Amino acid sequence: MYPSNFAYAAPTSLADVLAQMQAAGDDGKLLAGGQSLIPMLKLRLAEPKTVIDLGKVQSLRGIRVDGNSIVIGAMTPYVDVLDSADVQRRCPLLVQTISQVGDPQVRSRGTVGGSIAHADPAGDLPAAAVALGAVVTATGPSGNHTYDAANFFQDVLTTALEPNEVVTSVSFSATDAPGTGTAYLKHRHPASGYAVVGIAAIVMVGADGNCQAARIGITGAGSHATRATSTEQALAGKPLDAQSVAAACANAADGVDLMGDSYASSDYRAHLIRVLSQRAVLQAAQNARR
Ligand SMILES: Cc1cc2nc3c(=O)[nH]c(=O)nc-3n(C[C@H](O)[C@H](O)[C@H](O)COP(=O)(O)OP(=O)(O)OC[C@H]3O[C@@H](n4cnc5c(N)ncnc54)[C@H](O)[C@@H]3O)c2cc1C
Repeated sequence: MYPSNFAYAAPTSLADVLAQMQAAGDDGKLLAGGQSLIPMLKLRLAEPKTVIDLGKVQSLRGIRVDGNSIVIGAMTPYVDVLDSADVQRRCPLLVQTISQVGDPQVRSRGTVGGSIAHADPAGDLPAAAVALGAVVTATGPSGNHTYDAANFFQDVLTTALEPNEVVTSVSFSATDAPGTGTAYLKHRHPASGYAVVGIAAIVMVGADGNCQAARIGITGAGSHATRATSTEQALAGKPLDAQSVAAACANAADGVDLMGDSYASSDYRAHLIRVLSQRAVLQAAQNARR
């Protein structure tokens, strides 16, 4: 299929983007890497009158370290995150997660801001974002806003962004403290490669070898990415052996608004959450001890 006709704008500054969005009103749509938007345009699931391409706004690209955070510009493509020595060293969960997104073409064009703003319930990055306690920065007609990832993803393709807000950057906490390990495990849909369930785990191992604290992000299973808070609490202070971790992960699907479809029922998704959480926690603990 072909998209409906639309006007195309390619502003070079954030101020121009905001002006274009204001002019377009409800009929404008931002274009980042296009890996989700262009299929939606072709299927006419989106029919904007104006497409505003962020590709020439250099200020939205790049990765910088700010204290204990890695701040990634919205228009930074996945591949730049994978190639960043700072990210590899200080926030390996992003590498573990993004390396499992799509294929090299998708990782070359798709962007961090596009993935976060799109809020695909099966997107990989949102799981890492909630586990890492990411902070999303956006700007719009009413100024700058920051959103905690925990409250940012609200429903299928729905975020807390206000109308006409642009995500400008996403800040992720570093996890390079001694004794901290991370892992991302995903059950890929055999046709699309998207996450049927994806689990991002961060485990802090104490001097006694027990779990000091854990953070677990879930994607794919429900309408939006969420944390497995009851499992996180159950892991704290417990040994990181297979039996204790399995017991703590038995309730990992609690509170997830499980979805079901022709490939995976809601019961099967709950099962995948439990199994992948166990494996991801054990792998993260192993990575912490290296
Ligand atoms: C073949 C294929 C396989 C894929 N497999 C996976 C996978 O396994 N896992 C996965 O997670 N994803 C997968 N994707 C999707 C990919 O991750 C997309 O890149 C991502 O979902 C959107 O990023 P984008 O930069 O392409 O955004 P776009 O497609 O350009 O935009 C997506 C949406 O976000 C909005 N938007 C973009 N940038 C901003 C911004 N800065 N501020 C506000 N709104 C903005 C747009 O208006 C649009 O509504 C796949 C895509 C394809 C084509």
